[in-house]
Amino acid sequence: MYEKGVRIIRGDRNPVKLLFGHTPEACTEPVDFEHACFANRMALMDIHLWKAFLTDTACPPWPCPCCKAGVLTLSKGALKSKTTVASMADRNEDWWDSDHVVLSFTAWATCSNKLCAETFALAGDGGVEMVPDEDDNTDYANYFQLRYCHPLLELIAIPKNCPAPVSKALHAAFALYWIDRPSAAGRIRVALERLLDHLGVPAQTPGGKYVPLDTRVDQFSKTDPAHGAQLMALKWLGNVGSHTIDVNKDDLLAAFQVLEHALSELVEKKSAMIAKLAADMTAKYKAL
Ligand SMILES: [Zn+2]
Repeated sequence: MYEKGVRIIRGDRNPVKLLFGHTPEACTEPVDFEHACFANRMALMDIHLWKAFLTDTACPPWPCPCCKAGVLTLSKGALKSKTTVASMADRNEDWWDSDHVVLSFTAWATCSNKLCAETFALAGDGGVEMVPDEDDNTDYANYFQLRYCHPLLELIAIPKNCPAPVSKALHAAFALYWIDRPSAAGRIRVALERLLDHLGVPAQTPGGKYVPLDTRVDQFSKTDPAHGAQLMALKWLGNVGSHTIDVNKDDLLAAFQVLEHALSELVEKKSAMIAKLAADMTAKYKAL
């Protein structure tokens, strides 16, 4: 049964709680993290995973960028938090309550794949939320928002043959996602420009003049209208990112999803690979 504010993750041994729903843009849908882990293995992005928060004892099962097989886990006592002095300064005032608490945290996470066992340095901020306890009484729980992680988490799968300039812009977008979403949208726009370079769409006229991004996307769309429409959507998000002070988290995650699909089709050429596999199988077995 879904309870607002609390999600249960079924781990290998002990269930752990993760918090949702304490901000308007936070996740409000039931989350199946077992499916999320499976989706990671299938290289499909699960947006719920990137909107989830840490607790004192658990972190969302973010996919390990090093081995692509394990997920990040927190060992007992790996997360340390403190309240900021500023947020506690007025704690004796009548109007002050737990909503005013601001936390800072650091933590070490480890990849669940024992053959990898990469360690990750995490840091960020957090707060306190009222949650119902097992008897439906009010309890309090800390929640934490990731702001920094090293090695860097990869929100989408990047094909092995992805051009370096595209990967570089994507990695910048991954880092900025946690701290500055408009800037992350700007990096997605740069990734799009570099992807068009890779696809052979000129960035300059024969006379050396700059070609606007939407003109480049239009030019690409003449030969590939379906993917061209997807790339145009990314261009619009990049525009919003450079002209507003905030970008909706869902919109940014949607852009990452579109980009992941575009890279798998235009760089990795996944559909073409599958079509060739199917054709080879047909040729091999049809005559038998
Ligand atoms: Zn790993």
